[in-house]
Amino acid sequence: MKRVLVTGGAGFIGSHLCERLLNEGNEVICLDNLFSSSKDKIIPFMQNPRFEFVRQDVTFPYYAEVDEIYNLACPASPVHYQVNPIKTIKTSVMGAINMLGLAKRVNAKVLQASTSEVYGDPEVHPQTEEYWGHVNPIGIRSCYDEGKRCAESLFVNYNLQNKVKIKIIRIFNTYGPRMELNDGRVVSNFIIQALKGEDITIYGDGKQSRSFQYVDDLVGGMIRMMETPNDFTGPVNIGNPIEFTMLELAEQVLELTGSKSKIVYLPLPQDNPTQRQPNIDLAREKLNNWEPKVHLKEGLQKTIAYFEQALKKQ
Ligand code: UDP
Repeated sequence: MKRVLVTGGAGFIGSHLCERLLNEGNEVICLDNLFSSSKDKIIPFMQNPRFEFVRQDVTFPYYAEVDEIYNLACPASPVHYQVNPIKTIKTSVMGAINMLGLAKRVNAKVLQASTSEVYGDPEVHPQTEEYWGHVNPIGIRSCYDEGKRCAESLFVNYNLQNKVKIKIIRIFNTYGPRMELNDGRVVSNFIIQALKGEDITIYGDGKQSRSFQYVDDLVGGMIRMMETPNDFTGPVNIGNPIEFTMLELAEQVLELTGSKSKIVYLPLPQDNPTQRQPNIDLAREKLNNWEPKVHLKEGLQKTIAYFEQALKKQ
């Protein structure tokens, strides 16, 4: 049994990770300030004596004797991380410093949830880990992109300078049950709009692409990354390489929900990446043949079922 700290543990991905770690017999400390998440997602774990919730902001130091740290804390949806951009930068940068400091003190392994956003609006397609990216440092996405890029630099340098055992994963678009109703990202928006019979809002012409990963596949990849030998630090892409346009996604959601919603076109936000697809050769090689298993259709069906229930409870 390991004692594992998950920052952002009450979030969409964090709650799935906490659940998997508990199911595998570990003790889990979930640290979250509930800025873009809610207690609902972790209430089912509260009865478990191996689970502990700490309501705290990751920008403040935290101390606990732990074996492993998964640093997930940061709003990840553009609408949430752009509400308070300074706070977003602080969360990524100070959160990384605090968790790296903790890992150093207690000799824990620490995994950083980095992002495909470090590639910005990529000119190399699909994206390999060697690509340095194409990020606008002063655009509306920079608080997230540059915050996460700085966190990667902090991780690499704590490893080089202080021998902290680090792991960096770059997470590509992920969806699934337990996304917030107000998440604002494309999969949850389209499903909720379709279920409510509201217009499906495509930003731009809908020809921009993303590659959508079901949350269970991601959680499996994260845990495998944590288990790799200490000399493998990453970064490694974790995502589903099957690429779709937003128009294709909207059509799939309409078909699976049987909704009569109309598609409407709204302006494309600034610096919106036109394409995104992970090259996952490195993950396949280093993570014990890990690869995503859940096809978009199956993942969407599960997510639609979740949102049907969530909307009824509203
Ligand atoms: N998008 C859209 N309609 C929405 C929400 C998002 O067309 O209601 C588009 C968005 O402009 C982007 C893509 O879907 O091109 C993915 O957006 P999301 O916010 O999910 O994540 P991103 O990959 O941009 O961080």
